[in-house]
Amino acid sequence: MSTRTRVIIVGSKGRMGEALMRLAQADPALELIGGVDRDDDLNTIVDRCDVLIEFAHHSVTPGLVDLALARNKPLVIGTTGHTTEERARIEAAAAKLPIVWAPNYSVGVNLLFYLTRLAAATLGDAFDQEVIEMHHHHKLDAPSGTARRLGEILAQAGGGSYEELVRNGRAGDVGARSKKEIGMHALRGGDVVGDHTVVFAGSGERVELTHKASSRDTFAGGALRAAAWVRTQQPGLYSMQDVLGFGKK
Ligand code: NAD
Repeated sequence: MSTRTRVIIVGSKGRMGEALMRLAQADPALELIGGVDRDDDLNTIVDRCDVLIEFAHHSVTPGLVDLALARNKPLVIGTTGHTTEERARIEAAAAKLPIVWAPNYSVGVNLLFYLTRLAAATLGDAFDQEVIEMHHHHKLDAPSGTARRLGEILAQAGGGSYEELVRNGRAGDVGARSKKEIGMHALRGGDVVGDHTVVFAGSGERVELTHKASSRDTFAGGALRAAAWVRTQQPGLYSMQDVLGFGKK
């Protein structure tokens, strides 16, 4: 086994792909085998890598998962916006393959996940919970994968599922806010890399937890760290919390 982890970047010409290619090239722990984008054939180089890293489009993931299973290549998935069926495909593949799948690879956001869980458990039902995210105007999916994960954490703490409790935006004659609902709001504009705020609004006080990313390098660096980590893991579905040693997501 080579000491350096050999990686291939899928979605190499995108905003994240550019950052991943640049950082992987400069990382002494990694060997960049190459990048593939829309018009390239991954089959010709896949056997030369230890780990596949994907930041492309949600429709790309199922085919990539099949290829990774066939060639026994651990995966790092950064893409967001998957359908329920695509999510199930990833989960099923993890029975046979180590996969890191995280909506956000930054250390700061993973701390935000942890703090959100802690705040929800501490403040409880007495505080109304809302999530606000903002991203650049090119972003295709909404709410962001990170906002969705924050919603899942809040829903879990509230004793329900994301589908039951999350309310996306409000318009018209919506009536008073129910105690259990979790408001979800997606802003789009300019070149914002990624802002997330979780609001806990109580009677007479309000707590807001905010993370703001100012460079994609923070996600790319985390994903490359995950690639070196996942190479030596047993089959299973892992989050960035596992890579960082924060425990299960
Ligand atoms: P982007 O549109 O700039 O790049 C996507 C790239 O994927 C493009 O170059 C596109 O040509 C390529 N692509 C599309 N179909 C392909 C295919 N079949 N095979 C290979 N490449 C293909 O998007 P982006 O801003 O780089 O984001 C990519 C994904 O990563 C999005 O889902 C985004 O939400 C997600 N993202 C995740 C994190 C994280 O930390 N997990 C951080 C930022 C972005």
